[in-house]
Amino acid sequence: MAEVNHEPLQNRIANGLAKIALAIKSRAWREGGNQWLPPLQAQTLRLLLKRVGHDTPVSLIAQDLAVTMPTVSEMLRVLMRKGMIKRVQSKDDHRVFNIELTAKGKREAARLSEWPYLLAATQDLSQAEQVSLLKATIKVIRSLQDQGEISTARMCVTCRYFRPHAHQDEVNPHHCEYVDAAFGDHLLRVDCSEHQAAPDEAQQANWSAWLKTGS
Ligand code: SF4
Repeated sequence: MAEVNHEPLQNRIANGLAKIALAIKSRAWREGGNQWLPPLQAQTLRLLLKRVGHDTPVSLIAQDLAVTMPTVSEMLRVLMRKGMIKRVQSKDDHRVFNIELTAKGKREAARLSEWPYLLAATQDLSQAEQVSLLKATIKVIRSLQDQGEISTARMCVTCRYFRPHAHQDEVNPHHCEYVDAAFGDHLLRVDCSEHQAAPDEAQQANWSAWLKTGS
């Protein structure tokens, strides 16, 4: 009997992910029109929106985007010329400047932080499927991060406050020490403003603990 498909499963998953990435890119291009922002600029605006009320020096942006200081400085100059961001002197240290969104930048960042078509695309998934997809996405993001393909994601699984399976509770087994609360896989975050990267060894230990019983 003939086989339905010879193509390895991983190839088909990669193909599917590439199609989703292409859809996101072309949508951003269509919606942005003349204002279309390259990915680094768009990510910077999203980051600054998440950090409203927190100090955001240039070094933090460079670290978040995993790019060099000269690269981020040049990119910030472009965003400043577009009127999306401004430099503000730190209240604590007058030698330090933070980057903040202007009103125009806030509007653009809010637009860039919404993906209504992606929300619509996942609305028919069951709760269990959504949690599975979230966990699979976290694993893919971490691998891409390790390969240096994407910037550091502020995910629970790499956070110093994350305590996987700290509780004997099927629904909420994990603990966030930042808010001192139990939570489950369905509440794992992929872009948390309070995230602080754990040391490498602790990240690895947490990752193994989460995978062992949480996958
Ligand atoms: S601080 Fe944020 S990223 Fe860290 S464990 Fe808590 S919720 Fe997760």
